Amino acid sequence: MQQVLQNGWGNPSSGHGPGLAAREILDGARKSVARLIQCDLSQVIFTSGGTEANGLALWSAHLKGPAHKNRIIVSTIEHPSVSEAVTFFTRLGREVVTCPVDDKGALDLKQFEKRLDDRTLLCAVMLANNEIGTIQPIQEAAALAHQAGALFLTDGVQALGKIPVSLPELGMDYLSFSAHKIYGPKGVGCLCIRRGAPVANPLKGGGQEGGGRSGTENVPGIAGFGEACHQLSVNPMDHERIRMLRDGLAGTLQKETGAFPVGDLDNGLPNTLGVVFPGVDAQALLMSANRQGLYLSAGSACHSGKTKISPVLHAIGLRAEHAQNFVRISLGAATSEQDIQYAASVLLETVQRLR
Ligand code: PLP
Repeated sequence: MQQVLQNGWGNPSSGHGPGLAAREILDGARKSVARLIQCDLSQVIFTSGGTEANGLALWSAHLKGPAHKNRIIVSTIEHPSVSEAVTFFTRLGREVVTCPVDDKGALDLKQFEKRLDDRTLLCAVMLANNEIGTIQPIQEAAALAHQAGALFLTDGVQALGKIPVSLPELGMDYLSFSAHKIYGPKGVGCLCIRRGAPVANPLKGGGQEGGGRSGTENVPGIAGFGEACHQLSVNPMDHERIRMLRDGLAGTLQKETGAFPVGDLDNGLPNTLGVVFPGVDAQALLMSANRQGLYLSAGSACHSGKTKISPVLHAIGLRAEHAQNFVRISLGAATSEQDIQYAASVLLETVQRLR
């Protein structure tokens, strides 16, 4: 990225030398993304991240999907870039129907099937949840959607790099990614599109990205995204090692503090641990852990004195007081045994003190 920032100043849409050099950088990055998820170069549209990629899929279905279809089905645990966006589409006349998940956060396929009909335009089910890590039955859901003649969007932002992700195997029409979840830069991502699925962007302009996304490409960011994808292909995360570390930590926390995991450890992302420490205020735990170099996230946020519970925790039926005791712990590819021991010691001490 530094090299591109210093030397790659050409505009990839220009036909002169520096422009062509910038175009080559884009092509190389596109190849790395396409190789990682087994699709063609023409199926990758670079965006400013996961939010824009999800939006591009929703707008594509809205603007170019079959005119007689009106229903959009979304799971109750989608990221706001889908759940909030579809609320907006109701103002444009779309009927939005939510589909429940079970208490571990997995899509209820029977309920999903019940909601599908020949007027269904689009379904959106994420590949893995960002708060509790549960992996969704995407192949089955996409097949059901296609049987009903509906398009299918999968938010793959949180899953990439942590479980195998293959566009042809999973079989969706739209699949979104964000570079910063795989050690790439922030502010860049992509939407991968099945051949033949409609593409339409409401932002008109220079028609870059094969007409799929107008605006001069973020060449340094895309170079970083491509490199992150390349690194994932040649040096993937050791999922089993990370899963074992995570399960060890979950076991220690459970035994020593009475904490309980939320989500599905067996069918979840290997690096994600959602956990409830009964009786412990998650915000206080976060702040105390932060001072000791342990960076966690909570399942509720306090805005102007009011506590807002995460819709995901609500969707899996977690009791409101437990949602305020919920903490998400994420491991990285380089997390070591010593890191986990340190995290456990900080958490045990802090939980005891706060109680
Ligand atoms: N989808 C999921 C599941 C996410 O976790 C995120 C970000 O954390 C996004 C979408 C949005 O991605 P971005 O911040 O790159 O727009």
